[in-house]
Amino acid sequence: MAAQVAVITGASSGIGEATARALAADGRRVALLARRLDRIERLAEELGDGAVAIEADVTNRDSIVAAAGRVKDALGGADVLVNNAGVMLLGPFSSEQRADYERMIETNLLGAITTTAVFLEQLRDGGGDVVNVSSVAGRTARPGNAVYAATKWGIGGWSEALRQELQPEIRVIVIEPGAVATELTEHITHEGTKKQVQEWVGEIAIPPQDIAEVIAFALARPRRVSLNEILIRPTAQAR
Ligand code: NDP
Repeated sequence: MAAQVAVITGASSGIGEATARALAADGRRVALLARRLDRIERLAEELGDGAVAIEADVTNRDSIVAAAGRVKDALGGADVLVNNAGVMLLGPFSSEQRADYERMIETNLLGAITTTAVFLEQLRDGGGDVVNVSSVAGRTARPGNAVYAATKWGIGGWSEALRQELQPEIRVIVIEPGAVATELTEHITHEGTKKQVQEWVGEIAIPPQDIAEVIAFALARPRRVSLNEILIRPTAQAR
C-alpha cells in the first residue's frame, strides 16, 4: 500500500512541527503548511523522502486552494488533514482587542473550516482523517480567554456535526491539549496577560511531542475505531 499523505497546518513550530515529525516517523509522507517558509523548508529537508514544504496562510482561501493543488501534484492527494494552525491572543475582554479577536476567529475557526472544505474531495478519495486541534479551552472557559475559548468551542460544535456527516468515510478526531511548551504565548498582545500566562505555562507545560504522539496513536487505530475527543493535560494541570 502506498504511504499515506498527511497535511499539517501550522507545521513551522510547536505541536504542528512535532506532529509532522511523528507522522513522518510512522512512514507517512507529510505536507508541511505554514507562513514561515524558511522553517518548513528546513523541516522538510530534515524529514527527507516525501516531505514537502508549502507556504500557506489558512486565513486566505486562495492560498489554501493553491496548497491543495501542490499536495495533489507532489504527493497524489491528502489522506489525513491536521488542522493545527492557531493563535491564542488572551487578555481581558475589551474593544481594544478587536484585531486580536478577528485574527483568532479567522485563523483558529474559519481557517480550519476553510482548509477542510478545500481538502475534502482529496480526503474522501479512499477514506481519510481530519484531526482538529482544539484545546482544554474548548471545554473550560476562564476570564481572559473568552474569544479564544469561543473559537475552540466552535471547533467542538463544528467537529461534532462534521463527524456525523462524514463518518464512516472520514474520521473526525478532536485533540484538546492543556498547557504545552510552544511559541503560542509569544504572540499575546496584552502585556500583563502575556507575563502571567508565560509564568504559568512555564511551570507546568509538557513538550509538544507528548501531543504529537497521541495524534499519531489516534491515526494509527484500525479504521473501525474512531477516537472522537482526546483531552490531554499535563499532570501538573488539574483544571
Ligand atoms: P505555535 O505558536 O508554536 O504554533 C502555531 C502554528 O500556527 C505555527 O506553525 C504558525 O505558523 C501557524 N499559524 C498561525 N497563523 C497561521 C496562519 N494564518 N496560516 C497558517 N499557519 C498559521 O503554537 P502551538 O503549537 O502551541 O499551537 C498549535 C495549536 O495548538 C493551536 O491551534 C493552539 O490553539 C493549540 N493549542 C496549544 C496549546 C498550548 O498550550 N501550546 C494548548 C491547547 C491548544 P506560521 O507563523 O509560520 O504561519
